Amino acid sequence: MSIKADVAIIGGGVIGASIAYRLAQAGKKVVLFEKYDFAAGATGSCDQCVFLQSKNPGIHLKLALDSSEIFQNLAKELDYTIDYFQHGGMITIENEMEMRVMSDFVEKQSKLGLDVCIISRDEAAKRQRGLAKHLLGCTYSPTDGHVNPFKLTLGFIQAAKKLGAEFYIDAEVTAFRQEGGRIKGINQIKKELRSMVKSAKYSEGKKAKGASLEELFNSEFMREYTDFESYEELLAASGLTAESTEVVNAAPDGELDLHVRRTTRFSSWLEMQDTAANEYVIKKLGF
Ligand SMILES: Cc1cc2nc3c(=O)[nH]c(=O)nc-3n(C[C@H](O)[C@H](O)[C@H](O)COP(=O)(O)OP(=O)(O)OC[C@H]3O[C@@H](n4cnc5c(N)ncnc54)[C@H](O)[C@@H]3O)c2cc1C
Repeated sequence: MSIKADVAIIGGGVIGASIAYRLAQAGKKVVLFEKYDFAAGATGSCDQCVFLQSKNPGIHLKLALDSSEIFQNLAKELDYTIDYFQHGGMITIENEMEMRVMSDFVEKQSKLGLDVCIISRDEAAKRQRGLAKHLLGCTYSPTDGHVNPFKLTLGFIQAAKKLGAEFYIDAEVTAFRQEGGRIKGINQIKKELRSMVKSAKYSEGKKAKGASLEELFNSEFMREYTDFESYEELLAASGLTAESTEVVNAAPDGELDLHVRRTTRFSSWLEMQDTAANEYVIKKLGF
């Protein structure tokens, strides 16, 4: 399948999703490819904070302040619930040195327009139960808040879709197509192709449609990724025999992984199989 677009975005985290939305808003034909699922990367692991006062005075704080403005009306703009709450935030101050550093930091941030101040430990304790008794105080900004990163990402995606952007999940970008030194396109593997990859895996052995051990671990693959010319050589050097999948699978836990780590560019036997299967299918498909 061939997809034509003004802009192709790789990665459906919050950054890719927001770029897709803004470009679609600007009238661009956008397509986004995500390897796994939306927010499957750092976005889905983050701690949800929209934390302004941790930003250094300068461009970071400026961007954070501008983002905070955008967040005020973002749910309405996207027509999507993103669970954005501005409940305020604090950074604890434990000693005199930290007090000096944070006082200076807060002064600089305030000059750039951030609503932030230093409050006493007792004031802070009214906002947060269980604060340690030895604290000297806290910085406090009422503008800090949090947002649900999954909903935020999906909000951008839904809104971009309404503007005509296309999104593909289970779609790993595997290569760029170049012409005259410029990127002219990308190759991607979709869900259907993934199942072909699975069927070609070594664990399926000779039962796999069309993929023998020799084809998977061909000499080109072995030379590129390992210290050996052939798969048999690799196994011979390990002390294991290469008669069947079962023999390899029966190797004591970790022994084969250790050998693979020492003599190839892979960190495990599974990773080596996966890469070989992927490369086999990609080659078969003519990419
Ligand atoms: C624990 C933690 C806490 C954090 N806390 C905060 C915070 O409080 N405030 C804050 O502002 N930031 C925070 N961050 C940082 C913030 O979450 C990340 O900077 C942000 O989510 C990055 O978004 P992204 O879209 O660039 O990357 P990601 O969310 O990682 O998205 C990249 C996507 O690309 C996909 N992908 C990769 N390769 C391919 C390929 N070849 N083909 C197709 N798709 C591909 C991946 O599957 C992934 O979904 C935190 C991060 C972590 C991990």
